[in-house]
Amino acid sequence: MRTVLLGAPGSGKGTQGVVLSQKYTIPQISTGDLLRAAVSAGSDLGKKAKSAMDAGALVSDDIVIGLIRERLSASDAQNGYILDGFPRNIPQAEALDDMLSKLGQPLQGVILLDVAFEELLQRLTGRRTCKDCGAIYNIHLSPSKVEGHCDACNGELFQRADDNEETISNRLKVYEDQTAPLVGYYQNQNKLYKVSGSGNVDDITNEVAAIFDRI
Ligand code: AMP
Repeated sequence: MRTVLLGAPGSGKGTQGVVLSQKYTIPQISTGDLLRAAVSAGSDLGKKAKSAMDAGALVSDDIVIGLIRERLSASDAQNGYILDGFPRNIPQAEALDDMLSKLGQPLQGVILLDVAFEELLQRLTGRRTCKDCGAIYNIHLSPSKVEGHCDACNGELFQRADDNEETISNRLKVYEDQTAPLVGYYQNQNKLYKVSGSGNVDDITNEVAAIFDRI
């Protein structure tokens, strides 16, 4: 199952990606997670990526395409994957198509998680992530039982550096300008499936899973 979760920041790609990855035993591959790991490790790549990430801008295509090329060649990705946060512009989508067509393994479906702008803002400003297990909460919409701690593993919850108001508005603008054109790009390939990303998490998972089962 070679798939992409497409959607604005805060549309639930990460949340759905984790659940669907477990359900289908295929990896969720998030360029945002790979980049944050590189920044934390202090690698050269991380140093190059950090300023763009802090500003809510896109990291250069060369860097993210290189990361994806390497990650897709790993053994756990040979039966499929869920891409989350990649591609984010037309050149990245073209590079991905090119890479996959050389392998004879084109994408099978792209799921657009559709969420209204106001809700995205609320989700992004309230988002908190567990530093130990990665579980995602929201102080406005789905708070943890004990403030600041994860329900599942009691790990500490933190706010992502780029979830502050200024960076959020830039990330949403970057999405509109550079990523939203991918909707038309994949529609032209007859690979786009639109799902409402508002409402109950399990209902959204079921809707995406129903699409995964028929592509
Ligand atoms: P995310 O976790 O997907 O919201 O990504 C966090 C940040 O990482 C983004 O705001 C970008 O700065 C960077 N990033 C993640 N994926 C990409 C990508 N495919 N292309 C360029 N930059 C990316």
